[in-house]
Amino acid sequence: KPLSRANSAMGGAKSEDGVYANVQVILRCRPPSKEELAARTQQVVRCDEAMRAVTLTQQVPGSKAAQQTRTYHFDKVFPPDTTQEKLYGSAISSIVEEVLEGFNCTIFAYGQTGTGKTHTMTGDITEELSAGAGVIPRAIHQIFNYLDSINSEYSVKCSYLELYNEEITDLLTVGADVPKVRIMEDRGGTALAGIEESIVKSSKEIFALLEQGSAKRRTAETLLNKQSSRSHSVFIVTVSVREVTPEGDEVIRVGKLYLVDLAGSENITRSGAVEQRAKEAGNINKSLLTLGRVITALVEGQGHVPYRDSKLTRLLRDSLGGKTKTCIIATIAPTVLCQEETLSTLDYAHRAKNIKNKPEVNAKISKTTHLKEMNFEIEKLKQMLIA
Ligand code: ADP
Ligand code: MG
Repeated sequence: KPLSRANSAMGGAKSEDGVYANVQVILRCRPPSKEELAARTQQVVRCDEAMRAVTLTQQVPGSKAAQQTRTYHFDKVFPPDTTQEKLYGSAISSIVEEVLEGFNCTIFAYGQTGTGKTHTMTGDITEELSAGAGVIPRAIHQIFNYLDSINSEYSVKCSYLELYNEEITDLLTVGADVPKVRIMEDRGGTALAGIEESIVKSSKEIFALLEQGSAKRRTAETLLNKQSSRSHSVFIVTVSVREVTPEGDEVIRVGKLYLVDLAGSENITRSGAVEQRAKEAGNINKSLLTLGRVITALVEGQGHVPYRDSKLTRLLRDSLGGKTKTCIIATIAPTVLCQEETLSTLDYAHRAKNIKNKPEVNAKISKTTHLKEMNFEIEKLKQMLIA
């Protein structure tokens, strides 16, 4: 399938090389669960897809009749009946197209535990896409469908990390003697040392790795008594395509896709700080807290942005106010029991809309013509030296 802009999402807002673009924020509300339906739990969220609006109706405490409604607008709003296929087609596939054009793109899932972050990012993992397949398996399919359709050399690499308590675990290495993963900043952005980068030749291989990584994550959880709601997972796919232009120049485009399933946002207040009761219980997720502070600093135009204060923000530095195209999928639940958390998520996500990034294409051009010119220059300099 050639790159087509026909269903380009985000209102057709395609990245232009080196031009500022706002972070895209989309909202997804999950359907009520069986239990919530059985208990006839009151529903307080209304999504208006056409208006890209979500309205939260809250009961004012102490007064039966009084209600307070708040409406928020996002780049896209997906109501509870939205299928995985619909969400992907209308909000994600155009981002993956940009990765194939050589941009770095990041997709975050942000929200309270149980609102559908993992369902949205991963969903069902089967090599043949099923209706339940989430963003990661669909992106893998899109990438390989494209690569199989072009006549260029390519390479695809992937890594899969987990961040828990400020420790990074490589989910793709096996065995006990695994090197520690370190984050290093270089001029081109962030680099990871001690990490397994597997070269994959087909979507089949990448699915095997995804399954292997997910299994390792589950085992580690049980062994160490970790809570998955408190860890972040990051799946990274790097696609390089080598093309030769009609002039005989070689162009190598490298696009990177970061797919991030964040820890549950339940202890984060509406302003992005940690709730007092969570602090007292020692439940501070430094990375998630710093993410909030980084967003605040960027939105308020503060001179110092505290990227260095956590592993997550160091790792994703470029996705926040940097050269990456970024999309946040905020997930919420529809019921009254979650209304405070829902309000926090809506506020947080709404604020993040104001972050501006400046995506740039990563392309290395080795111009044959350029080389000729250089040789000519060298010859000229030699002549000057002799003279
Ligand atoms: P989180 O990762 O945010 O903690 P999960 O993705 O694990 O949440 O979702 C919690 C439960 O709700 C799961 O059983 C999941 O299958 C279900 N769920 C979440 N979002 C949806 C959705 N959009 N449609 C149907 N079921 C969903
Ligand atoms: Mg989850």
